[in-house]
Amino acid sequence: MFPSVVAASPHLSLVLPCFNEASNVEAMHDAVLAAFEGCGFAYEMVFVDDGSSDGTFQALKALREKSPRSVTVVRFSRNFGKESAIYAGLQHARGEYVTLIDADLQQNPALALEMVRFLDANGEFDCVAAFQEQRSEGKAVTFMKNCFYRLMNRITEIEFVQGASDFRTMRRSMAQAILSLGEHNRFSKGIFSWVGFRTHYMPYKADARHSGATKFGTRKLFKLAFDGIVSFTTMPLRLAVFAGVISAVAALVYMLVVIVQKLAWGIDVPGYATLAVLILFLGGLQLLGLGILGEYLAKTYVESKRRPIYLAREVLTAKDLAGGKEDNL
Ligand code: UDP
Ligand code: MG
Repeated sequence: MFPSVVAASPHLSLVLPCFNEASNVEAMHDAVLAAFEGCGFAYEMVFVDDGSSDGTFQALKALREKSPRSVTVVRFSRNFGKESAIYAGLQHARGEYVTLIDADLQQNPALALEMVRFLDANGEFDCVAAFQEQRSEGKAVTFMKNCFYRLMNRITEIEFVQGASDFRTMRRSMAQAILSLGEHNRFSKGIFSWVGFRTHYMPYKADARHSGATKFGTRKLFKLAFDGIVSFTTMPLRLAVFAGVISAVAALVYMLVVIVQKLAWGIDVPGYATLAVLILFLGGLQLLGLGILGEYLAKTYVESKRRPIYLAREVLTAKDLAGGKEDNL
């Protein structure tokens, strides 16, 4: 009935980063089973427990007992962040295709099946990424995100598609390319774009979170945006050069004006207020320049330590698919 799977690797690996998702993982697992029922190929789920402090790991362990052939669990030693969880998931995924999908049921696993079908049918594409035409979050957040993508498109060489999420399915070659970028400061959306490959964009509507609250508050989003800029462009460093050149030219012009005023008309040099404003202005510019430089230096320092992207406390690998009936067919 179904094509027999002789290879040891599944057709698809779903990578699910989880941080305090104890009340979601089972529903997510069941939603995947329902979406892929009768799909005709073997698949696996790679759950990455990103240092959760609730019962996420226990819930994942129970899922692995339920589906030992199709569930892998990687448990981090602490919270390393979603970007690191994606990296770990890609490392442990064995599938020919890899899907990155959140564990909170905001992204419908049935769409992942559509993505696989698309890649099966369109050999010239390497990735299908879901993007939201209409965001379900607040207007202010959407506006800020759109501004950020516009800015990134302007100041970096890479292309950012507005509304595109991490929810995507890629071929193994692209997953391998992403893994080959071993940087510590990982901004996945930039990395997906930087590695190239041909991506097809598929519209989708994010559902409401099954349970719990988002882990990406405004502060975390700002930090992510800032890290993205520092990771993918050195443009801010050039801004300091521009600011320096402009203020030096302005100073020169002002100096000539003052000299001419004094020599030709005997006008006194304006005093205290001008000086105070100029000192503050230039002092501010210098500190800004130093701050920008410091940010890049700090990132270089962190990268130079070459620390691992994550540390696993435990890995429960799915039992080999080779020989024997796949329990997810
Ligand atoms: N996540 C993670 N590590 C973190 C924060 C989030 O693995 O430090 C996971 C989280 O469990 C979820 C996914 O990343 O599966 C997306 O997070 P969330 O739903 O909070 O973000 P949003 O959908 O609101 O952008
Ligand atoms: Mg979510």
